[in-house]
Amino acid sequence: MSYKNFPMVPRVIFGRGSFNQLSEIIYPKRFNIHAPFIFLVDDVFKGNAWLTSRIPLSYDDRLIFISTNEEPKTSQVDALVEDIILTSKQKTSGVIGIGGGTLLDLAKAVAIMLTNEGETKDYQGWDLVKNPAIYHVGIPTISGTGAEVSRTTVLTGPDMKLGINSDFTPFDQVILDPELTQGVPTNQWFYTGMDCFIHCVESLKGSYLNAFSKSYGDMAFELCKEIFLEDHLTEHEAQDKLMMASWHGGMSIAYSQVGVAHAMSYGLSYLLGTKHGIGNCIVFDHLEEFYPEGVKLFKAMKKKHHIELPKGICANLDDSELDIMINISLSLEPLWENAIGKNWKKRITREKLKSLYQKM
Ligand code: NAD
Ligand code: ZN
Repeated sequence: MSYKNFPMVPRVIFGRGSFNQLSEIIYPKRFNIHAPFIFLVDDVFKGNAWLTSRIPLSYDDRLIFISTNEEPKTSQVDALVEDIILTSKQKTSGVIGIGGGTLLDLAKAVAIMLTNEGETKDYQGWDLVKNPAIYHVGIPTISGTGAEVSRTTVLTGPDMKLGINSDFTPFDQVILDPELTQGVPTNQWFYTGMDCFIHCVESLKGSYLNAFSKSYGDMAFELCKEIFLEDHLTEHEAQDKLMMASWHGGMSIAYSQVGVAHAMSYGLSYLLGTKHGIGNCIVFDHLEEFYPEGVKLFKAMKKKHHIELPKGICANLDDSELDIMINISLSLEPLWENAIGKNWKKRITREKLKSLYQKM
C-alpha cells in the first residue's frame, strides 16, 4: 500500500475585509518593476469599484477580465499565456485569480503553463507537469467548489473534460474574505453551495472514506446543514461559514473521491455544456437510491430556498447523444469505485445510466 503525499496551500488569510491586505501580501513576490502581476478577474466585477479599486495595480501589472459564460478551456489557457508572454517585458511575478471556480481554475492553469512548454491539453491528467508553476494566489468570490484548496484545475480540452492534477497546481496563497461573496445571486449561491454539500455526501458515503476525509467531511456537512436548513445565522455568519465549508469539503475529497453525481454531471457538462454547480444539482435530485439521506436533505434545502431546477434537459436526446454522456460518465472509474465499490460494473450498466439520464 502506498499513500498519497498531499500538498496543501501553504498560506491562507481569513477574515472579512482581508482582501485589503492583498497589496502587502504579494509585494515581496515581485521580481522587479518590469515583472508584472497578472490579475484574472471575473467580468461580473467590471465597473464594480468596491472590488476593483482595491486591486493593487502598479508598474506593468495587468488586469484581465474574464467571462464565466463557459467553463475554462485548454485553448483559453493557451491564448492567455501567449498574450501574457508577448506583452510582458520580463517573467511574470505572479498570477492572481479573483472569482469562482472558473477563475480559480484558470489562474492555476495559467500559472502552470507560464513555466511549462507546449499546450495545456498535454498536461490534463495526473502528475504530468514538470516545472513548478509561477507564484499564484486564489481569491474566491463565491463559495462551494473547493477549487481554492484542491490539487486540480478542471479544464475542457479537445477530447475531454479533465483536470491538471499535480503537486504544482495548489495555490501558494489563498485569501478567504467572505465579504467578497456578498453579491452572489440566490440561485447561484445555492448551486455552488450544493457542490460543497454533494462533495461531503459523496466523500462520506464513499468506499474510499478514511479518518482524514471523514473529519473534514463531517465539519463541512454540519456547516452546510446549518447554512441551508436552519434559520439562526445572520447573513454574515452564513457567508463566513459557507467559505469554510467549501474549504473543508475540498480537503475531504482531496483524500478520497467524489461519486455518482459528479460522474454523471461530467456527462451533462461535456454534451450540453451544463455548468458544474447546477449540473450536480440536477443529477443529485435523482440519486435517492445511492444517497437516500443526502438526497432527502437536498430536497429539503431546495424547498426551503424555493429553488426550481430545470427539468427534461435530456428529454429530446437521441441514443447517440445519450451514448456520449454514458461513455464520459463510465470512464470516470475511480468515482464509481468510490461510490459503489470494487464491483461497481455489476450495478452500473449502460441501461441503468440511460434510464437515470432520461429522468433528468
Ligand atoms: P463560476 O466561477 O462560473 O461562478 C458562477 C457564477 O457566479 C458566475 O456567473 C460568476 O460570474 C458569478 N459570481 C461569482 N462571484 C460572484 C459575486 N461575488 N457576485 C456576483 N456574482 C458572482 O462557478 P463556480 O460554481 O464557482 O465554479 C464552477 C467551476 O469550478 C467549474 O468550471 C468546475 O469545473 C470548477 N470546479 C473546480 C474544482 C477544482 O477542484 N478545481 C472543483 C469543483 C468545481
Ligand atoms: Zn464538485
